[in-house]
Amino acid sequence: MHVHSSSKLSMDTSKNKYSTNSGIQETNSDTNDEEKNDLCPGFKDADAFVKYGLGAVLSATKASTSLPQTGDEYDFYRSFPGFQEFCESQGDKLLHCMSQIMQHHGCRSRMRDRNKLTGLEERFDLVVDSNDVILERVGILLDEADGVNRNQQPVMPAEFQPPKIVVSSWNRMGSSSGSRSETFRLLQAKNIARPQMKFKEKVDNSNTPFIPKIFIKPNAVKPLPSYFTNKQIRKERPEDLDVPAALADFIHQQRTQEHVEDMFAHPYQYELDHLKIPESVLSKPEPQMYKPLTETKCSFIDTLEDLVALNEKLCKLSEFAVDLEHHSYRSFLGLTCLIQISSREEDFIIDAIELRSELYILNEAFTDPAIVKVFHGADSDIEWLQRDFGLYVVNLFDTHQASRALNLARHSLDHLLKHFCSVNSEKRYQLADWRIRPLPDEMVQYARMDTHYLLYIYDCVRVQLLDFNHGQPGLLQSVWNKSKDISLKKYTKPIFTEESYLELQSKQKKSFNTQQLTAFRLLFAWRDKLARQEDESTGFTLPTHMMNKISEELPKEPQGIIACCNPVPPLVRQQVNELHLLVQQAREMPLLKAEIAAEKKKGLTPIKKPEVTMFGPHDTSRVSEINPQHCSSDDVPVKQGVLFTEDEPKMDVDVQKTSSLMAAAKITQFEELETQNDHKFLSVTQMKARRIIECFENPFRMYLPSSDVHISKNAKFDPSSKIFEISKRWKLLSIEQQQKELEAKKEANRKAKEEAKEHTKKVAEERNQAKQSYQESLQDVATVRQQAAESAKGAGKKRERVASEVGESTPKPRKKQMKSAEKPQTTEPPPQDSFKPFDYNQSDLKVFAGTKSKDNTQFDPNRQAHGFKKKKTPRGQKSNSGAGSRSMSYMAGKSERGFRHNWPKR
Ligand code: AMP
Ligand code: MN
Ligand code: ZN
Repeated sequence: MHVHSSSKLSMDTSKNKYSTNSGIQETNSDTNDEEKNDLCPGFKDADAFVKYGLGAVLSATKASTSLPQTGDEYDFYRSFPGFQEFCESQGDKLLHCMSQIMQHHGCRSRMRDRNKLTGLEERFDLVVDSNDVILERVGILLDEADGVNRNQQPVMPAEFQPPKIVVSSWNRMGSSSGSRSETFRLLQAKNIARPQMKFKEKVDNSNTPFIPKIFIKPNAVKPLPSYFTNKQIRKERPEDLDVPAALADFIHQQRTQEHVEDMFAHPYQYELDHLKIPESVLSKPEPQMYKPLTETKCSFIDTLEDLVALNEKLCKLSEFAVDLEHHSYRSFLGLTCLIQISSREEDFIIDAIELRSELYILNEAFTDPAIVKVFHGADSDIEWLQRDFGLYVVNLFDTHQASRALNLARHSLDHLLKHFCSVNSEKRYQLADWRIRPLPDEMVQYARMDTHYLLYIYDCVRVQLLDFNHGQPGLLQSVWNKSKDISLKKYTKPIFTEESYLELQSKQKKSFNTQQLTAFRLLFAWRDKLARQEDESTGFTLPTHMMNKISEELPKEPQGIIACCNPVPPLVRQQVNELHLLVQQAREMPLLKAEIAAEKKKGLTPIKKPEVTMFGPHDTSRVSEINPQHCSSDDVPVKQGVLFTEDEPKMDVDVQKTSSLMAAAKITQFEELETQNDHKFLSVTQMKARRIIECFENPFRMYLPSSDVHISKNAKFDPSSKIFEISKRWKLLSIEQQQKELEAKKEANRKAKEEAKEHTKKVAEERNQAKQSYQESLQDVATVRQQAAESAKGAGKKRERVASEVGESTPKPRKKQMKSAEKPQTTEPPPQDSFKPFDYNQSDLKVFAGTKSKDNTQFDPNRQAHGFKKKKTPRGQKSNSGAGSRSMSYMAGKSERGFRHNWPKR
């Protein structure tokens, strides 16, 4: 049985693999014919390779089904040693092959360990996971071939690669501060080795309060309590004591109770309480100009030796500036990655990952009351320094507090830099992945800017604080005091309690019924536990908006849980069955009478939510968070009804409206928003990619009305003939045809004008037709139309949203989306020979720079879910947040929820 099932699985994987390869091949074949032979050695071209591969897969599948069945038959055969041996060796071969494939794709594979019968289920999961990974890759490659670059993060292997900067558009700020728009630079990297692996001391994610790391206390007025200096007390764990467990616990408790007060006190509380600000820093300084960046030495400190030298240098100064860079997405508590320090003469960048367990030596300078430490916005920095290194700051000056006291227009460092140094630092790497090593120079330079000018700013604000107060030191003193309060802050670990979930839930917009709230509570606990265990952020483990979605929908099937998440977080995928059990547990909760009534009022049966079981909306909750008014699950058709107002005079606009309306009126859950004209702009590769995608997707397409199946008739046949269909179609587009199409492309340029005219005509006719049929279909929903007419003015925007669906997660309207929205949508199949090969000269290269979102040709469960909803609740409007990027890496969008809310407020 084992052999049996795994052989099938291996078929699947190899099938996927072939498609993947052919995808690559075809992508290249458009641009580079020479590469053909390199990619498929021994084959004429990719088609030949694919054909061979598919043939092999098919015969293997057949062979595997004719193997003796499990149960009696198999057991009987197994009693023959020859058969047994054969199975054994074949099984080994298959397993070897599978693990090779898995390794090739970078998946975990421990398949050959066949002795452990108990691990069978686990290993099965392994294969399933690998299949997912591979399929995901196929999807990405197909998207790429389709002209969509979904994999937008630069890949950073262990060796250095020049950083590619993604200037993200999602987080263009500006609304908050007038017209000023800030662009954050987002530098991300995949395949970063987890720095935690290198940590000498393991991260303590346990659900226990934070205990200071300090064990030596330089500059102490009051000595460090014995709890911290006596390593034995600290390190001793109850389980290490050579006594019975219960007694060990008791002893441990007694011992710790003695120290409780010390354990949770601020180690420098006494020193800070008695800190006297020296007169020298309260009098008016002569601002000392910063050295130009180019003339300033900048040292990267990543060895203990250099760190010691730096500490000695710092101890001789009267002030220095400090800043930190931090990472929080792939760690439960977060980790400090960099410490920047600037003196008047030099800049230093400390690799805080590399020197994590050595950095405590800086306490000598950091807690020296004679040395001023200038920070900007030190609130989190103070906590991070304690948490990661046991570092404290005595004699802090926070320029952010100074900026507040001065009542400056804005209190960001950017603003101070502009105001005092005329330095423009708008483009920020704030959200960069600071774990990247070696640190790209661009990031070093950026990090350096955060402290380089800070001492000069410190001078300037002191002058202004004194001037502001007519030379009296009161205001300046208050900044020192505020700064001191900040340095007195204690790091506290997030503690999970049975009530923690309520705090988060109360921040959500939706109110939950008993079942939903139960699900939320259980998911919250699951997420917390797993995040601690895996040392991942809760946002990485299961973003809150997805947790909300799952709680709200209470999917019946594990699939439904997956459908609530887009992209599916790896840990969710891994533990979907556990999650499913939690949801089931929640569903078993009795609803309150009032809740049942409320549900009925909404016209829903309380528990049943069939739309999520398989094809639930993927990530609509994302929109609902940003844009709550669009999230009521039910009003797409209304807005689309707008499109049929009688008094719409302008032709081309009308046409467009009609077409999207056609789609809405006719197409149900299997709505296909791809327009006919889209095809005209597709390259051969793109066409192929689409066809393959279609083959993989909607298993229900065969049930669509035939007018709609301009894409895949193949779904009408059984799965195996699907495979033939792919190869057949690929053949169709042989080289001859490619040439033909190339000519057609030239032709097309000439004829473009002519066609456009004709097209408008045609479209007008279609529009009338559409209008008619729509009106027929809407005879009894006049109110919808009326309502629609009222909002006709806003139709433009909404139309765009509907037409661009998948790209919706990015708030900025995209050129290309607009374009496709303007195309009329017809139900006719696109004539094959009218395809216009994709002209790369005219292509929107931003696609590859990651500035354009995904085009809308791929199977999107979202759309189907909408269909469901439309059918049932034809009022209201739902804005569809698209799949967007499916990558799970440090995405900007996620930072908004997944981890950003974890940020200490600044
Ligand atoms: P900064 O003090 O501006 O250099 O920021 C220090 C660290 O705080 C950065 O490395 C980020 O990890 C984090 N951070 C700063 N601003 C934001 C933000 N707007 N959202 C999320 N994280 C931030
Ligand atoms: Mn900072
Ligand atoms: Zn910084």
